[in-house]
Amino acid sequence: MSATLPDAVLSYDEVLADFDPVLGLEVHVELHTNTKMFCGCPTTFGAGPNTQVCPVCLGLPGALPVVNAKGVESAIRIGLALNCEIAQWCRFARKNYFYPDMPKNFQTSQYDEPIAFNGWLDVELEDGEVFRVEIERAHMEEDTGKSTHIGGSAGRIHGATHSLVDYNRAGIPLIEIVTKPIVGAGERAPEVARAYVATLRDLLKALDVSDVRMEQGSMRCDVNLSLMPKGSTTFGTRTETKNVNSLRSVERAVRYEMCRHGAVLTGGGSIVQETRHWHEDTGMTTSGREKSDAEDYRYFPEPDLVPVAPSREWVEELRATLPEPPAARRKRLQSDWGYSDLEMRDVVNANLVDLIEATVTAGASAAGARKWWSGEIARRANTEGQDVPEYAAALGVTPAHVVELESLVSSGRLNDSMARQVWDGVLAGEGTPTAVADARGLELVQDTGAVEAAVDEVIAANPDIAAKIRDGKVQAVGALIGQVMKAMKGQADAAAVRELILGKLS
Ligand code: ADP
Ligand code: MG
Ligand code: ZN
Repeated sequence: MSATLPDAVLSYDEVLADFDPVLGLEVHVELHTNTKMFCGCPTTFGAGPNTQVCPVCLGLPGALPVVNAKGVESAIRIGLALNCEIAQWCRFARKNYFYPDMPKNFQTSQYDEPIAFNGWLDVELEDGEVFRVEIERAHMEEDTGKSTHIGGSAGRIHGATHSLVDYNRAGIPLIEIVTKPIVGAGERAPEVARAYVATLRDLLKALDVSDVRMEQGSMRCDVNLSLMPKGSTTFGTRTETKNVNSLRSVERAVRYEMCRHGAVLTGGGSIVQETRHWHEDTGMTTSGREKSDAEDYRYFPEPDLVPVAPSREWVEELRATLPEPPAARRKRLQSDWGYSDLEMRDVVNANLVDLIEATVTAGASAAGARKWWSGEIARRANTEGQDVPEYAAALGVTPAHVVELESLVSSGRLNDSMARQVWDGVLAGEGTPTAVADARGLELVQDTGAVEAAVDEVIAANPDIAAKIRDGKVQAVGALIGQVMKAMKGQADAAAVRELILGKLS
């Protein structure tokens, strides 16, 4: 293959001087229902190839699909959470095209009768400003199987000697959520795109309808972008960059396409309406296939499935199951917990909100919960490339452990540095905090006589420092506390030692 030159790009500032971006985001989410959308096959991730298939999802002649009620329920809840109207009556449609990993030669989808339409989602930007993204529709469809190309480089079909296909994913329920064109984001278009996908992901997670793991493909994003000359209100020609599979990539892909479109348009060229591929390594897109709006999928209503006509009572019942919106929940918890903005942001970024909430509910202080979950365990989880909840679950470390650890400190059995050692033991799998403290013999000396004797000895051995403290140089007490703690092998309460020394030298 001949090397192709990278596309020309304008600088970001040059683009913004002459153009306004228009964005459109299409997000596919895989529902985590137990069974597929139109058959009873299981949906477990990672099963052996073609072990979760049946005549329906293999498209065998005569097989008849049946709609998964849980899939419809999830679609309605998603629609409601996105402030959409819910169709009184809608049908599935066949979207006809050939693809080797789609055995029916059509995808069962929805076309002009989506289950949910006309909604919006408020998206909070970094500086706290709220940007409203309008939702065109959310519709139900099914996923395709998965091809693996063997023999080529980097798993691509070019140069492959043969391909393998796994139909386990074929028929897994998908919801496609499509925005209306997003206008007016200007220089913040990349940030708006990223924040929208992040907000949507949090919302879907709170709804508990999907794993929403972009890196595993259970949430996938296509980024549509066009530019219009400043002052114009007529949309330009768009490109659709497929499968942009991380939040950071969404932001980068928008920015890159803006700069590329800008170069084409300022150079007197025109944008080809096409799909493009995003390349994580180079941060660039390359041309995919040309795609016109009128592309003929020969959509027609699916004759094998009955229409979906959710009763208004059911819709209202489902509305009552909607969770508190994640942004509102975060604000409420931040104020309950008394965290600063910075502390809360760190907690959110580390995915610790649920864990801290569970820990506080179990009886720990908010400060303690944050301290223990974001300290040593976070460092270790990070080294393993996991987040703390995953890592803690794998280790079997629970909120109850934090509560127990904290009570060992508040009851006076452990001081802070001993508590740290105990926590290390818990993380090393040595058992509960009490068990670790027992096994390692960690306990503050409760015998005040022993502590007092150590204090007297240290004062007697350090007459110069003692004199300084008597003269009012209280900060010198640190040196004496250190010596007493050493004499007590760390098993004394430093605050109590301090009081004792100051009392004797006042
Ligand atoms: P397709 O079938 O090509 O994927 P969809 O209607 O599913 O089309 O999605 C197109 C997306 O692009 C929507 O989010 C839509 O709002 C957006 N869009 C439409 N026209 C433009 C445009 N000129 N520039 C940017 N985005 C656009
Ligand atoms: Mg689409
Ligand atoms: Zn099946």
